Amino acid sequence: MLLPQAKESKVNENLSNKMALGKSIKMYLTIFIATTCIYMVLYQYHMSRQPLAANELVKHPEKSSSSSSSSSSYIASYLWAPPMLNNSSNSINTTMGQGLVQVHGPNATDTSSVSSSSSAASNSVSASGSSFYSTVSLPLTLSSASDANNKSISTTTTSTTTTTTTTVANAVVSATTTTTTTAQKLKTTTQPSHAHKSMPPLYIITPTYRRPEQLAELTRLGYTLKHVLNLLWLVIEDANKTNPLVAHTLDRIGVPYEYLVAPMPEQYKLTKRAKPRGVSNRNRGLDYLRANATEGVLYFADDDNTYDVNIFEQMRYTKKVSMWPVGLVTKTGVSSPIIREGKLDGYYDGWIGGRKYPVDMAGFAVSVKFLHERPHAKMPFKPGYEEDGFLRSLAPLQNNEIELLADECREILTWHTQTKKNPAALPFNQTRYGNTNLAFIEKLLVRP
Ligand code: UDP
Ligand code: MN
Repeated sequence: MLLPQAKESKVNENLSNKMALGKSIKMYLTIFIATTCIYMVLYQYHMSRQPLAANELVKHPEKSSSSSSSSSSYIASYLWAPPMLNNSSNSINTTMGQGLVQVHGPNATDTSSVSSSSSAASNSVSASGSSFYSTVSLPLTLSSASDANNKSISTTTTSTTTTTTTTVANAVVSATTTTTTTAQKLKTTTQPSHAHKSMPPLYIITPTYRRPEQLAELTRLGYTLKHVLNLLWLVIEDANKTNPLVAHTLDRIGVPYEYLVAPMPEQYKLTKRAKPRGVSNRNRGLDYLRANATEGVLYFADDDNTYDVNIFEQMRYTKKVSMWPVGLVTKTGVSSPIIREGKLDGYYDGWIGGRKYPVDMAGFAVSVKFLHERPHAKMPFKPGYEEDGFLRSLAPLQNNEIELLADECREILTWHTQTKKNPAALPFNQTRYGNTNLAFIEKLLVRP
């Protein structure tokens, strides 16, 4: 039996035990609530940092690609490529001599032609009216390209993209690589994207030729052109046959293009004097436009020059001929029309040489309709007089019909740049590098 004192102390003890329990419950509850809050805050922060899923981005490709400051717009602009233009460029045409080898347009209507590796991308972007990338499996292309070049190329547009497994240098390249051989074409729509129906198409004629710098030049120019809507890039090589490495590069860039060949005539190749560089290529481009284009604007963009994308939007509305200054990396500094009291009053250039139009190749654009009105217009095989000869062949053309762009020729938006010529790369040592990645790289180098 407990004494009353002991009883009292027992009650006190019970009471303090209960209080301690209450306190610790309170403490645990506080810790629990605090932890939950911290977790919630961290989760919110984490979610806000998550990049958007690809399909979320491409729902608003233009909106997101126009604001270049946020990180998501960077991803969106990567996924974005210009929609196809409204011409019949995709009709394959071998009647024009040098065969068209590859048509590549982004708005492929036949998505079933795309293999599993790229179908996800194509589905999401075609739903948004944008484009997809098709990749070329190089090894297969390399082997089939020579075939394609020897045979005459089919006149029908076929959609024959296949999925293959390719082995090179004893390594599996990819089990799901989309392969487009040079003779195979993606079926593309001839309808313009609705959003750009009112925008005249731009035809960019780019002469190119085999040399160690070629793919670097085309990559740089290609990614410049990728900023421009409703554009077809006519890449025309001074060669007898196309190069799968060039086709591969163009495919990877993802700008709508046609890759044609137009060799320089033998008589000019053999001369010891200055050669008419890129002339057969540009004339081939003009032939292409006469056969395939009805409207829009053409521009000769050499593969080694430098272009501010603003000039493309300005030249797009050319009625006949437009001109603007071209920065030169010489003592002359610029080649430009001279504007006095708002009117064209001659030309400034380091060398006039009796030319009526002493302008640079990068300094003018011509409307396709106007080209159709001058069926005999072409570029002469006359070194130094290519621009002058071509512009003269567009006669009659009044000076006041020449539109003066780039803030009435007060801005430089194009530059005539030159890349240092380089010797060909030496072959890799097969014994040392035969079973490494360098065996692949070896096949990617353009050697003269
Ligand atoms: N080009 C060509 N074949 C040649 C040399 C050049 O097709 O034998 C192309 C070249 O890729 C470029 C254009 O013609 O797009 C002008 O050539 P280049 O840049 O060498 O001339 P430059 O600008 O120095 O006058
Ligand atoms: Mn050049």
